[in-house]
Amino acid sequence: MNIIIVGGVAAGMSAATRARRMNEHAAIIVLEKGGYISFANCGLPYYLGGTIKDESQLLVTTASAVRARFNIDVRVKHEVTSIDRSARQVHVLDHTTGTSFVLPFDKLILATGASPIIPAIANALAANVSALRSIEDTQTIHASLANIGCRRIAIIGGGFIGLEMAEQMSHRGLEVTLVEKSDHVLAPLDSEIAFSLGEELRRNGITVFEGNGLKSLEGTNELVTAVVLEDGTRVATDFVLMSIGVRPNVGLARDAGLELGPTGGVKIDSHGRTSDALIYAVGDMVEVEHGVTHKPTRIPLAGPANRDGRLAGEHAATGNSAKFPAAMGTAIVKVFDLVVGITGLSEKVAMAAGYEVDVAYIVSNQHVGYYPGATPVQLKLIYEKPTGRVLGAQAVGKDGIDKRLDVIATALHFKGTIDDLTELDLAYSPQFGAAKDPIHMAGFVATNQQRGISPGVRSSDLDGEVKIDVRSPAEFAQGSIPGAINIPLDHLRQRINEIDPDKPTVTFCQVGQRGYVAQRILSQRGFTKVKNLKGGHTVRRQMQS
Ligand SMILES: Cc1cc2nc3c(=O)[nH]c(=O)nc-3n(C[C@H](O)[C@H](O)[C@H](O)COP(=O)(O)OP(=O)(O)OC[C@H]3O[C@@H](n4cnc5c(N)ncnc54)[C@H](O)[C@@H]3O)c2cc1C
Repeated sequence: MNIIIVGGVAAGMSAATRARRMNEHAAIIVLEKGGYISFANCGLPYYLGGTIKDESQLLVTTASAVRARFNIDVRVKHEVTSIDRSARQVHVLDHTTGTSFVLPFDKLILATGASPIIPAIANALAANVSALRSIEDTQTIHASLANIGCRRIAIIGGGFIGLEMAEQMSHRGLEVTLVEKSDHVLAPLDSEIAFSLGEELRRNGITVFEGNGLKSLEGTNELVTAVVLEDGTRVATDFVLMSIGVRPNVGLARDAGLELGPTGGVKIDSHGRTSDALIYAVGDMVEVEHGVTHKPTRIPLAGPANRDGRLAGEHAATGNSAKFPAAMGTAIVKVFDLVVGITGLSEKVAMAAGYEVDVAYIVSNQHVGYYPGATPVQLKLIYEKPTGRVLGAQAVGKDGIDKRLDVIATALHFKGTIDDLTELDLAYSPQFGAAKDPIHMAGFVATNQQRGISPGVRSSDLDGEVKIDVRSPAEFAQGSIPGAINIPLDHLRQRINEIDPDKPTVTFCQVGQRGYVAQRILSQRGFTKVKNLKGGHTVRRQMQS
């Protein structure tokens, strides 16, 4: 059996090595048009920033090592230019020799990835404008930045790569400007969670433009000298990084007549087979099933590419494998001291998908407060109102964010509910969590809301209620909701007569916890229309900005 794999990075190499482990006798050829295989895309910003010192550390393996261990014929600088489905062969261009040839296949696995989007505007192809995708891009950027005259960088796009590069370029000593067209960086997140990220960037000296996209690139002598934003702002720069997203590389598949899906990725079945059962496709070029909505979606991340690549390799080599798992889009990024991430659906996406959505916010330390090093985790849980099914979560903080996202991603995988979250038996000792972990706390808030024990209200939905700020006078003095009365929680029982039990009332504090206790006191003492402000003053402030 001849198995040909097109693309030798995450999905392609996972497919190739699994195919070999499952079928010792197949002839397996990997064709990679670039000069490197199995490199760590995810590490590229950290090499450019100097955190990873040596370029060779980015190379997970080499063609000769794969040949020696797996007996796989890996050919770099070999581009597949077309697929002849009826003759079952691919046309290949060897970029080193300039020669073309054909190779026959019994099974073909396409793993051609995605390409950065470069806007079709003047000067976008100037020498000091680049995207970051490959080792070759990294070398180009590295050489430009090493130029003595390069002091300033403008990063267009505040997604995961843009954020990582903003941090790393700042570590490198450059003046960094980050330009984001959406009204906040990290557009997949809901705005109140992304808010802290914008603050963190600014605190670390990054100039951030949000809600203001790139309009044009000013240049002289074939070099860009400034970026001009939609509102006319002009930012002088020595280098421009384009990180405004990726487009799936589907040209080869489309030209061969393989079906594309509604999202523009190649359409595949649950084993990665395209509309031609002998041809598989996997990784950033395909659309996958979303684990919550079960709709086709594109999730250009390393996890699905690696895991699905492995399964496609097995299926191509043996005719059998487990089905591709649905993907949750779990992602995380660290920007200076802050870590932020998402799993499943955001609130805005869940609403757009037609779910009856509710949310719960908590702020709780990543481990018990009495153990040194405790720092807060802000967690937003998104769930379906009638069923309590968890739809997604977002978390931000300095530490412990990955753990909470991974637990919720696991809950999503098993179609867990908010009740399930309250019941999880999680690891705890003072260094590692709390007997009531942030995951439990989020479950408690959500189930209290769901059962009507503690109804919550968003600041945007406030409408003439009596507002009781139960924080301390010192906290109150630093700013509160206009018209709010300050009755600190510990005085509430003594001062309860100051409030009319028949009027709709909202209690609130800094993050929602004291407001909840106040709401429980009032609702058990004759107040029938009392709610707690979701996420307290913190989320209100995040939402207003
Ligand atoms: C800077 C950066 C940081 C990232 N960080 C993260 C992260 O932290 N977490 C995360 O989950 N994901 C991250 N990603 C995304 C992750 O790297 C991708 O999702 C993953 O690499 C996709 O794997 P793939 O094999 O589908 O595509 P790719 O890795 O793009 O590989 C496709 C390969 O196919 C080759 N190819 C294309 N066409 C042909 C052809 N016709 N003939 C031969 N070869 C061809 C290309 O040259 C390319 O090498 C990051 C990506 C980048 C660029």
